[in-house]
Amino acid sequence: MEKKQFQAESKRLLEMMINSIYSKREVFLRELISNASDAIDKIYYKALTDDSLTFDKDSYYIKVAANKDNRTLKITDTGIGMTKEELENNLGIIAKSGSLAFKSENEAKDGHDIIGQFGVGFYAAFMVADVVTVISKALGSDQAYKWESEGADGYTIVPVEKESVGTEITLKIKENTEDENYDEYLEEYRLKQIIKKYSDFIRYPIKMDVIQR
Ligand code: ADP
Ligand code: MG
Repeated sequence: MEKKQFQAESKRLLEMMINSIYSKREVFLRELISNASDAIDKIYYKALTDDSLTFDKDSYYIKVAANKDNRTLKITDTGIGMTKEELENNLGIIAKSGSLAFKSENEAKDGHDIIGQFGVGFYAAFMVADVVTVISKALGSDQAYKWESEGADGYTIVPVEKESVGTEITLKIKENTEDENYDEYLEEYRLKQIIKKYSDFIRYPIKMDVIQR
């Protein structure tokens, strides 16, 4: 399987984030939940103008599921999903939001938590995960795809089975190091705390599921 390379900018930002000592790692969850919410918004607005779609509020939600046995944290949404092209274009390229330019400009000025203040988006997942897997099926598409990356060395995309439209992001949470605790991102109380802190305003239900060891 051919491994594709991230764009140069993406690579830089990725390294910067992974190595950033200023950033609060916990914001990765805010970023993933906000993307999930955006994806549900998209299907919602589509339903407003497309009579063939109905938006049943109850079937739209975000789920955060930790599995301590596998060291995985899964963020699932029933949003609009991504096609193969969208997986390539949206997750393989960065700096759309301008956060990279902003950070470069301000980095030298003060060591504040710029990443924490500005949405860096999806890549924040690599602050806590060794491997990030995205399985997605786009609205109106018959085929789902799996995008997978271990970080700076690129990503792969393969077709997979997925029943329903939406996106499932699995983070393989890093092992603890001497200076850094990652186990906490598999703990229910901690996840709830982060969600309360950053995602309290999210308009869709956030379900939680923790499988203990
Ligand atoms: P931003 O949210 O600022 O656009 P991100 O890096 O957070 O930047 O996400 C990049 C893009 O990837 C999004 O704009 C969206 O198109 C796509 N994306 C990310 N997560 C999801 C998701 N859960 N469902 C659908 N699309 C997503
Ligand atoms: Mg985002």
